[in-house]
Amino acid sequence: MPESAGARAHDVVLRHIEDSLRSGELKLGDRLPGERALAERFGISRASVRDAIRALEVMGVVRAATGSGPNSGTIVVSDPSSALGVALRMHVASHHLPVEDVVGARTMMETWALEHAAAAPWTSDQLDDARRLLDAMDDDALPSQIFTLLDSQFHVALATLAGNVVVSTMMESMREAIRGYIDDAVAHRGGWEDVVHVLRDQHKGILAAVEARDGALASRLVREHIEWFYNQSV
Ligand SMILES: [Zn+2]
Repeated sequence: MPESAGARAHDVVLRHIEDSLRSGELKLGDRLPGERALAERFGISRASVRDAIRALEVMGVVRAATGSGPNSGTIVVSDPSSALGVALRMHVASHHLPVEDVVGARTMMETWALEHAAAAPWTSDQLDDARRLLDAMDDDALPSQIFTLLDSQFHVALATLAGNVVVSTMMESMREAIRGYIDDAVAHRGGWEDVVHVLRDQHKGILAAVEARDGALASRLVREHIEWFYNQSV
């Protein structure tokens, strides 16, 4: 699986936070080590550390604190996932699952989730993550590997609205596999600049349908979105 330095740097920092939270070395509210310390620890550039932190910030895992002295730095504000989620995700990431099966499984889960989200008791502020992720994906300077990471987060955030914890956990566990095949397709196919505009428009349409609680439309649009990209890449 081809991996870019950006994706690797992000993974390494994310896994470090996950591991540190699990071991108790890091607790919610703690500050991350500084940019330079992280760069040295993982042998990556400071620019890669910055990209990784930015992605973690958009995901809502860390928040940059302003100010100086003891009040500055990057604070861990949420556990990126449960221990079960991590275990499943690592399992999925370490086994090269057939892309067709990943696509089939996510289509099944996401169409079901968006159809059921229409009648689920979520409130508008629960869409804040999804909205933030879409805003971040509008940035033309965003490397494709960070886009695909945010993209997979966006899909998890929407699927979670259905309120089925099993579906949410399964979506979360598939996140790396989803990002993996999209990254591979981008690397293999090229022409990212053309694809990214379509993906953005499709995402906005899906979010609007979810916001309008039109389950049939949201479900159809997410299916078309997944299938469109898959057909581009095969
Ligand atoms: Zn997408």
